[in-house]
Amino acid sequence: MLRLTELKLPLDHSADDLEAAICDRLGIERPGLVRYSIAKRGNDARRKSAIQLVYAIDVTLSDEEAVAARHVGDKDVRPTPDTAYRFPVMAPAGWDGPRPVVIGAGPCGLLAGLILAQMGLRPIIVERGKAVRERTKDTWGLWRRSVLDPESNVQFGEGGAGTFSDGKLYSRIKDPRHLGRKVLVEFVKAGAPDDILYEAHPHIGTFRLVTMVMSMRETIEQLGGEYRFQTRVEDFEVEEDASGQRQLVGLHLSDGSFLPARHVVMAVGHSARDTFGVLHARGVHVEAKPFAIGVRIEHPQSWIDRARYGTFAGNKILGAAAYSATHQCSTRRTVYSFCMCPGGRVVAATSEKDRVVTNGMSQYSRAEFNANSGLVVDIDPSRDYPGGPLAGIEFQRKWESLAFVAGGGSYRAPGQKVGDLLAGRASSGDFGTVVPSYKPGVHLTDLAQCLPDYVLASIREALPVFGRQIPGYDHPDVIMTGVETRTSSPVRIRRGPDFQSINTRGLYPAGEGAGYAGGILSAAVDGIKVAEALALDLLAPAEAN
Ligand code: FAD
Repeated sequence: MLRLTELKLPLDHSADDLEAAICDRLGIERPGLVRYSIAKRGNDARRKSAIQLVYAIDVTLSDEEAVAARHVGDKDVRPTPDTAYRFPVMAPAGWDGPRPVVIGAGPCGLLAGLILAQMGLRPIIVERGKAVRERTKDTWGLWRRSVLDPESNVQFGEGGAGTFSDGKLYSRIKDPRHLGRKVLVEFVKAGAPDDILYEAHPHIGTFRLVTMVMSMRETIEQLGGEYRFQTRVEDFEVEEDASGQRQLVGLHLSDGSFLPARHVVMAVGHSARDTFGVLHARGVHVEAKPFAIGVRIEHPQSWIDRARYGTFAGNKILGAAAYSATHQCSTRRTVYSFCMCPGGRVVAATSEKDRVVTNGMSQYSRAEFNANSGLVVDIDPSRDYPGGPLAGIEFQRKWESLAFVAGGGSYRAPGQKVGDLLAGRASSGDFGTVVPSYKPGVHLTDLAQCLPDYVLASIREALPVFGRQIPGYDHPDVIMTGVETRTSSPVRIRRGPDFQSINTRGLYPAGEGAGYAGGILSAAVDGIKVAEALALDLLAPAEAN
């Protein structure tokens, strides 16, 4: 099979036009094209008067060799890459050795659990939150009734942090083994729309994520895996031998039991602050890591569509437009858009009482009125929160608590209009053209009460710059809510080339919480890598016998 890339057609082209373009580009007659399928579809919107779809197409031809020979050196006609997933090792049939444990059922833990189950290792998945259906009710409880369950919310529970999200599934990670493809294939098997396999910027939306997560659980259980919900890992039992070598030997669980385990994937996400504290106290190597903080900014989606797509705004194939923006400030800080959700809503994303955190989500249709995005500023341990490996957590907590107070309590988010922020005054009174979507509500005030000066100064500098790129971006009525603090993990739990903690064997730090991923896809890919490394280690003695 050959892959033909950079094939451009107008938005309103027909299937016949696509076939004709393929034959034309390859210099063949129609009967020579046996079959084709879309490998990737994106768009080129640089010229708004002539937006084009850009395809990568896999073709089966009656005389592939001749066509390949004619296109030697053509970077857009190449053999189709082999993206099939192959397990590096499988447990012997009927294997009943020690079961690996996965802590956390987010995308990282879910894929780690699935791969381990597919390899025949019957993992035990321990998750502090509830199964996804019950968790959904609790999450809505905060948004609708201002009631937070600290163990069952946007961050904690089956499906992890990305369950109530836009479900964007792209990432800039290097992926020479096409592990991202394995993730997407498993998601489609579990009920995700097929188009995630070829859209350049795929997304799933919240409702479908919920059913997918349930379906993947069923698969893992059918393969002999086991879930323990509402069970938090509270402590780690580590043994040290005479040479100082440390080995994880088991987990203390919140139901009072002890789970012996020498192979544990730790995929706890970036909000498991208590767990990071325990790991540090047990001597596991934990270090502070940079992340970013700022606000969520909301615009009418129609403004973003117009800015990106001009007269094609609203076109069904293009869908709701996304954007990404970056500005290098004179203060040497970077302001950037983060986790942009077209046609979505801002959500309350705290997992701790009396704190306010923002994030964004949308449904598959992306049909809600506003676009939202994080607008965040990079921060760094040595400059902004010196004081040890866990100092970033205290830094986050401080601003999240101040946001709770600035929002007036009851989990409303503090908000400010862009015009007021730029003029250096508090907002009050009514909302203008832009009505914020955050529930349980927004209290207009001064965001200086809950964000560091240098963050607001950087955002003030960036807004007019972004306004020149996206007309309306810095409109005075545009609303910002805060605080956006959970952009990535404030710690890294460093691991070695064997994917185990650098000072505690048997502990496999993984995913976003350990500092090795940022987003659903990269966390899931990391879950696969870690599961493979764990299985190779676990099965090595069995195979040697
Ligand atoms: P998590 O998903 O955080 O999962 C960790 C799991 O571990 C949780 O279920 C938690 O309950 C459990 N856990 C924690 N501590 C313990 C313990 N001690 N014992 C047992 N269990 C424990 N990313 C995207 O790529 N696209 C998006 O559109 C997107 N939108 C988002 C929207 C929102 C509202 C949020 C909050 C995040 C969004 N993200 C998005 C980020 C994405 O969700 C995360 O990057 C991803 O979920 C990280 O995966 P993970 O498995 O490493 O950790």
